[in-house]
Amino acid sequence: MEKFTQKLRKLIKIKLILLMLLPNILWASITVENTAIPGGIAVINFETNHTDPKAFYGGIELYVQKIKDNHYQVLVGIPLLTKPGVKHIIVKDFSSKNIEFNVAEHNYKEQHITLKGKKKKYVNPNLKHMERIKRERPILSAARKIFSNKKLASMNFIRPVDGVTTSPFGLKRFYNGEPRRPHTGLDFAGDIGAPILAPADGKVILTGNFFFNGNAVFIDHSQGLISVYIHMNEILVEEGQHIKQGDKIGTIGQTGRATGAHLHWGVYLNQTVVNPNILIKE
Ligand SMILES: [Zn+2]
Repeated sequence: MEKFTQKLRKLIKIKLILLMLLPNILWASITVENTAIPGGIAVINFETNHTDPKAFYGGIELYVQKIKDNHYQVLVGIPLLTKPGVKHIIVKDFSSKNIEFNVAEHNYKEQHITLKGKKKKYVNPNLKHMERIKRERPILSAARKIFSNKKLASMNFIRPVDGVTTSPFGLKRFYNGEPRRPHTGLDFAGDIGAPILAPADGKVILTGNFFFNGNAVFIDHSQGLISVYIHMNEILVEEGQHIKQGDKIGTIGQTGRATGAHLHWGVYLNQTVVNPNILIKE
């Protein structure tokens, strides 16, 4: 009997601690260092007594997190092609105000890639492939534009693959000598079939096979923070599925415009590709 009461007391104690922690869990935040460069994330702090302040950059809603009390923080994804200089966001609480920030210059390296044989079609796609690309474009862009309100606890990201990074973010790319879009993600080397893990809690918003991306998964981490996984071999999740940090979402492959087996990992913030490394804390 005594043992039972002891156990009960212990349980009540744990419950009380959990209750005390609850507001903090709801307001957990992502620790991000200010990297106000093209392809980086500007971190802007502000104070307000409003309980649900919103912020915008170029008309696009931004990720806002509460730090504590009346201290809030905005995370702004800066497009890769942004010219350095003074920019501003608009914060809307009881009124509307401008907050300025500075974007510094950053020079990304060049990368030259040669596609041979069957993979050559990815350099200059034929008419049939162009039609497919056109069909897929709105589906992909709609997924990147999703802005869901905060329902998930914000958290620092973990690496989706336990492997070395082969291509850094932002490289200026040339395919068979022709300039193409810069590298909008981080590449991880790995064997076909190696597991890919969810870097944080989220909801699967898109899965499918696309011309350039091959097998792809898009995960919504709320407030315009979206992560994408491309060139996958297998997809192990379904659209609408809620996933936890560390869940296996698929495996490494070389589908789509990939020269070898690897995972291309991309992260979007306010519809802008940012360097995923900024979100990882080890
Ligand atoms: Zn890549």
